[in-house]
Order: sequence, then structure tokens, then C-alpha cells
Amino acid sequence: MMPISTPADRMLSFCQELIRIPSPTGEEGPLADRIVTEMEELGYDEIRRDEAGNVIGTIRATDPACPSIMFTAHMDQVSAGDLSRWDYDPFGGESADGWIHGRGASDTKGAIATQVHLPTTIAGHNLRHGDLHVAQVVVEEVAGLGSRVLLDRLHPDYAFMGEGTGNGLSNGNRGRTLVRMRFPGESVHASVARREQVALYRAAAFLLQLADLPMEQGVMGSSHAVPTRGATNLLDDNVTPQAFELSIDWRSIPGETPNEILERLASIMSDGDEARIPPFDLTTYTGRSYQLEYAQPPYWIDPDHPFVVTAQRALSAHWKRDVPVQPWTFTTDCGIFTERGIPILGFSPCEARFAHTPMDRVSIDLMVEAWEAYPALVKAVSTLPRTSA
Ligand SMILES: [Zn+2]
Repeated sequence: MMPISTPADRMLSFCQELIRIPSPTGEEGPLADRIVTEMEELGYDEIRRDEAGNVIGTIRATDPACPSIMFTAHMDQVSAGDLSRWDYDPFGGESADGWIHGRGASDTKGAIATQVHLPTTIAGHNLRHGDLHVAQVVVEEVAGLGSRVLLDRLHPDYAFMGEGTGNGLSNGNRGRTLVRMRFPGESVHASVARREQVALYRAAAFLLQLADLPMEQGVMGSSHAVPTRGATNLLDDNVTPQAFELSIDWRSIPGETPNEILERLASIMSDGDEARIPPFDLTTYTGRSYQLEYAQPPYWIDPDHPFVVTAQRALSAHWKRDVPVQPWTFTTDCGIFTERGIPILGFSPCEARFAHTPMDRVSIDLMVEAWEAYPALVKAVSTLPRTSA
């Protein structure tokens, strides 16, 4: 084995190890254990695991008057899918051609590695800073459970989210609400079914109105609603269904709440049609069970917000290039931070174009670049006022 020579090498080999530990949603335990071990070796002042299984390492403030800053990403990963579509072992953590390959590399194990290695990159900079929290959460891919539990206990003044930005900054994303619709009908023999007995005609009347429903407009464009999964419980082709059930995927913009979404749908529903945001139960690897709703809030922070301006200036000066600020097209946990009044920005060496694909990989150059920029970022953000009491 080659000797590990530099702190950057050690950070990169930690990323490879993370990829070799599968961490499907709800089964993040072994990965969490590995992160705790790394944090112990890196000398964090405090390391804890909350009841949901999130891992939080804290570097204590050198100046308690400075704001606290959180770096966060998620430990769970989506499945590898069809293995024949991969050029690399999805759980091999192979390093080749300037990339580290494997499931979760870009979502978000590349970011976890750089964040957990925060102590080695800020060492020797003599920074004035508040508490620095590195929080790796469970269950992001389903409904943001981990971040909700995390923020019940901890309220950082500012936060950075490790979802893919390719070392740019992300300042928004649409929310996602799943609505389950039910259109009633009557189960009768197809040879005698009357129009008003056919659940699918009721659904069709609704769908034609949904297609024309004016969507809310805002800073991130418009919200977006699309019917996805539809089903009946029929086993036969010659009877009409008792009901037709349909899922609506609703991407919301800031200001649009789940209740408003249900009201908008009610305005085009007929008597007897039902719409609800279904609750579901989830058990974390720690054995705790939670009931959640499929409603991820939207996220937005104004590009003129002092946090955004400060972070962008710090990175642009450090790298001597303009760092773009733009919203994500996909949904992240950031809206959960926004709901709790915590200014948050996406910043990560991961790239969204690889997430959830058999091309999953993270650039070694971008990882080292992000990791080396953390001291400049911490220094700049530490000059901002605290946002919480
Ligand atoms: Zn993700």
C-alpha cells in the first residue's frame, strides 16, 4: 500500500472508503460509524449522534461572538440500479482519470469527505470563528427526515449544504409535494356501465383542468404540477373500477404551502373526488419510527443577502474567478433550514449531472479545491452577525 502523504490525500481516500460502505436510506448505520471514527481521529471537540442517527461533529468556537456555521450533507444514497450500466463497481470507490467513482460519489459522499476533513484544512490558519458544526444526516432521499430532527436540537447561524453545485453556489430550489387523488366510481359490468359510474371519466375531467390550471409565478419561475402514477384495484378488463387513484407531483415555489396546493386542486375537483398528502411511516437505522408527510418545502435566499454576497466574494477572491449563484432544478433539504430561519447556501464539489446515474462520480480537483477554500469561507462568514439569540 502506498503511504498516505498529505492531508488532501487522506481526505480523498476517506471519500473512497465512504463509497465502499453502502448506505441505502434507513441503513446508514455502518457509514455513520465510519464517519464517527474519522471525526475521532481528526480531533473534533465534540461528536454526537442524535436519535435519528445523524452524526454531528463540532469544532468549538475560538471566538464565541462569531456566528456558528454548519456544513451538512446526507449519508443515504439511492440504489445502484442496473449494474450492467456501470463502467465501475458502484461500491468500489475506484479512483481513475481524476475522478472517484461509485454510487453516492456525487450525492453526497464527495461533499461528506471534504466537510468531515474541515479540521485539517483550517489547521494553522488561526481563524476567529464561532462553533463549526459538521452534520451528516440520514434519510434525505425520502422526505428530509434527518434534517428535521437535526434542526430540532441545533440552530446554526449559517449553513452550507453539500448537494451538487460543482463548486458554484446554489440559492434556491422548488419544493416537492406528493398529492394522492381518489376518483370514485362504481364497479359494474362493462357491458352496462353508464358514464357517471366510470371513475376514469371523472379523473379525465379533472386532468383536463389540471393541465390548464394557472401556476404560481415567483423568483424561481413557476410551480409545476404533473400527474404521475395511476392505478385501480381491478383484476378484470370487463368491469369498471370502484375508484381510480392518481399521484400528482407538485413542485412548489416559495410561498406556496401544502394547504394552498390542496385548495388549488379542490377548485377543479368534483363532488366526491378526494385529495390528500399521504402520511407515511419511516424507521431509521437507530430503530426510531417517525411519521412524515411527502411535503418538502421550497428554498430561496436572495442573491443580495449578506450571507450570499459574503460567500460569493470570499470564494471568487480565493479562486480568482467569478463564482456563479443559481438555483437548483431538484429538491434538497435546504427548505427545512429556511423554514427555521437559518440562512443556507448550496456549496459542494459534487455535480448534480452525475447524481442518481450509473456515471456517479466526483472530481478530485473539485474536492481538493472546495476543501482548500473552506478556511477562506469560514473566515469571511465569521465576520457576519449572528442570526439567532
Ligand atoms: Zn442528494
